[in-house]
Amino acid sequence: MTTVIIGGGITGLSAGYHIDDEVIILERDNTSLGGLCSSYHIEGDCNYYIEKFYHHLFEQDHELISLCRKLGINVERRIGTVGYSFGNKIYPLNTPLEILKYPYLTFFEKLRLAQFTLKCKRENPKKHVGETATNYIIKNNGVSTYEKFFLPLLKGKFGVDHQDISATWLISRIKLRSNRTLKGERLGYIRGGFQKLVDALANKIEKRGGEILKGIEVKEIVVENGIVKSIKTENEFIKTDKVICTSPSRTTKYFGTKKLLFQGAFCTLFSLKKKISDVYWLNIGDNLSFKALIEHTNFMPLADYGENLVYTVTYTSKPIDIEKTLNLFRYDLKKFGVEEEDILWQRTSYEMFTAPLYRRTYTYLPYKSDTKGLYFAGIFSKPNYPERSINGSIKAGKEVAELINNG
Ligand SMILES: Cc1cc2nc3c(=O)[nH]c(=O)nc-3n(C[C@H](O)[C@H](O)[C@H](O)COP(=O)(O)OP(=O)(O)OC[C@H]3O[C@@H](n4cnc5c(N)ncnc54)[C@H](O)[C@@H]3O)c2cc1C
Repeated sequence: MTTVIIGGGITGLSAGYHIDDEVIILERDNTSLGGLCSSYHIEGDCNYYIEKFYHHLFEQDHELISLCRKLGINVERRIGTVGYSFGNKIYPLNTPLEILKYPYLTFFEKLRLAQFTLKCKRENPKKHVGETATNYIIKNNGVSTYEKFFLPLLKGKFGVDHQDISATWLISRIKLRSNRTLKGERLGYIRGGFQKLVDALANKIEKRGGEILKGIEVKEIVVENGIVKSIKTENEFIKTDKVICTSPSRTTKYFGTKKLLFQGAFCTLFSLKKKISDVYWLNIGDNLSFKALIEHTNFMPLADYGENLVYTVTYTSKPIDIEKTLNLFRYDLKKFGVEEEDILWQRTSYEMFTAPLYRRTYTYLPYKSDTKGLYFAGIFSKPNYPERSINGSIKAGKEVAELINNG
């Protein structure tokens, strides 16, 4: 019988691509596939696609890079420069000289920070299960570095939950992502956007006879006597004995929210008449409405887009007021020299289930559930720990498909 996949994001598309038998993918969005990795289509002279939420890839994203190779998609390696904004001033933090010149940490604190990164790289994260990131940082770095450097970042990323974030997550994250050169971080991007990957996967699935239905929201997974029987949508029941659920909100319905909580992201893409700085990724140390400012056109060539593209983002575990937040974003952009008349257009994406909240109690989910025929794969699966990513979702989709292929 046909496998039904709930969700046409990267996990759903990867699962659909890797499953040997028939598949139907049901995606609730009626316009685009790709989920969190979907794109805006900006028509005009440059006629381009740009992700709704900023995206790049990392050198160690082997699943993603090898899938792109198979699909004939070129991945460009790029350096992503980073910086920190404090006191409304931008400090690039790439070269040793730039780091030495940063005025808000003493030389000794910077040295401890470098030692801390090396320590995390050697550390076994599992030894710190149950410990908070805050405790681990203070123990190894001292209070002043925590307060001046880590606290604004943790608060920015996790808001009110920052004190319960796990040390295991922090160490794993630093181990995974400390891949810097003397000019910046080694990253990658698909020229033309990740839309190319989404389209290529969808084409392959459909060519093999798979069905992808947009604008169909799954309302219920019908289970009888512990066995999956069908999927209920707005208009019909689809009979099936195998379901892969990639939707985080459905996952909490099944497993509850005790261990598994998610956070959301509110991200606005601005087209600006001028650039703000030379930095690609700017962490915001000040108490502003956005927690990071990402100048995409400091990463990929401006000529591809014909306009300066800048994302601002905030993360939240509670619903937020869209209009108010957007107005605050525009207001806070003024602190970076962006006046109202510099903004050509803006687009906002707001999703409530964009990443697991990596609290001390967080554990990723197994693919197989207690219900026969019901599988879960997505940002809550093992390959997406300690950080959810396109790479992790490709791997989760592939691994759950292998389970189904092997009966
Ligand atoms: C702000 C932000 C920045 C990011 N930056 C990066 C980055 O730089 N690099 C990187 O590798 N990754 C990045 N990611 C992460 C990456 O986008 C995700 O990990 C990945 O796209 C998740 O794919 P998924 O299919 O697992 O989940 P989703 O993309 O969430 O897909 C789930 C799909 O299921 C659909 N769905 C949900 N419920 C139903 C239902 N009931 N019926 C039908 N359909 C349903 C949804 O509409 C969605 O399309 C970023 C994410 C965010 C939010």
